[in-house]
Amino acid sequence: MITIDGARGEGGGQVLRTALALSLVTGTAFTLLNARAARPNPGLRPQHLAALLAAATVGSADVEGADLGSRRVVFQPRGVRAGEYRFDVGTAGSATLVAQTVLPPLLLASVGSALTFEGGTHNPMAPPFDFLARAFFPMIERMGPRLDAALDRYGFYPAGAGRFTVRITPVSRLVPLDVGERGDVVRRHARAIVARLPSRIAERELAVVQRILGWPADELETVVVERSASPGNAVTLDVTSARITEVFSAIGARGVPAEIVAERAAVDARDYLATGVPVGRHLADQFLVPLALAGGGGFVTFPLTLHATTNADVIRAFLDIEFRTATPRAGVVRVDVAPRG
Ligand code: AMP
Repeated sequence: MITIDGARGEGGGQVLRTALALSLVTGTAFTLLNARAARPNPGLRPQHLAALLAAATVGSADVEGADLGSRRVVFQPRGVRAGEYRFDVGTAGSATLVAQTVLPPLLLASVGSALTFEGGTHNPMAPPFDFLARAFFPMIERMGPRLDAALDRYGFYPAGAGRFTVRITPVSRLVPLDVGERGDVVRRHARAIVARLPSRIAERELAVVQRILGWPADELETVVVERSASPGNAVTLDVTSARITEVFSAIGARGVPAEIVAERAAVDARDYLATGVPVGRHLADQFLVPLALAGGGGFVTFPLTLHATTNADVIRAFLDIEFRTATPRAGVVRVDVAPRG
C-alpha cells in the first residue's frame, strides 16, 4: 500500500487521477491523504469523484472515501476489465479528465474498449476535448495503441451534459517515443467556438488571434454550436508541425471579455512558436504518464510546471523509473525516462 500526500506540490486533482491510473496498471493499492489540499475547495469535487468511481468500476476496486468533499481516499484494485463503459460526471465537471484517468490501464488491456464520457468537454483548467483528440491522443497512438475519439455534444459550464466517445485498440506494451524536435510548422488553425452566443464573439476573438499571431483569414474558423445545454465559448489554436500537433486553448466565461479569452490562448501559442520546443506545458505534464509506462523515451519542452514535477513524483511512487532532466538552453528542458538505478 502506497501512501500519497495530496498536499505536496501542485496539490490538485491530478495527484488523484495519476494515482488511480497507475494503481490500475500496476495493481498496487494506495491511500491518498489531503486530497486537493492546495485548492480553495479541497477534497473531492464531482469531477474527482467521477474519476474515482470510473477507476473503481474499471478495476473492480474496493474504495474508501468516495464522497464529495472527501480528503482521504483508499483504493485497492482487483483486476482491470476492458469493455464498454459509460461514465457521467453528473455536473459540468471535466469529463476529459475522467477519460485520462481510465485510459492508461485500458491502453494496456488484452481486449479493446468503447467508452462514453459525459459532463464538461470544454472547461477552464482542464484539457478541452480538442486537446485530447488532436494533441494528446496522437502522441499515444505513436506509442502503439489506436484511439478513435468523437465529440457528440459540447458540454460547457454550468449545465455540462457534453458527450464524447473513445474507442481503444490496446497494446501489450507502449513503445517509447522521443519527441526532441518539432520540425517545420505545416498547418495552423484557429477555432472560435460559440454555443448559443452571438457569433460576433467569435469574430472578436479571431481578430485578436490575427493581431497577436498574424494568422491569415483562411486559418481562422468560427464554429457555431447549435446543440448545447448551456451557452459557451472556447478558442482553440492548433499548431501542426512535422513531428507533433499542439493545441492551445482558452474557455470563455461570463464577465471575461472575448478579447481576453482569445489573448490567453494566442499568447500561449506565440510563446510556443517563438521558443521552438515541440511539447507545450500542458502536454508535458500529461505525457509523463504514458512515457513512464513505456519505460523510456523523452521530449523537449518549457521549464517544468508544478503540475509536471508533482505528476512525476506521483508516477515515481508507482513505477520503477526515473525522470532525468537537462537544460540544453535557457527556457528549454529535455526530459528523459529511464529505468531506476
Ligand atoms: P489539476 O489542476 O491538478 O486538476 O490538473 C489539471 C490538468 O489539466 C493538468 O494536467 C493540466 O495540464 C491540464 N490542463 C489545464 N488547462 C489545459 C489546457 N488549456 N489544455 C490542456 N490541458 C490543460
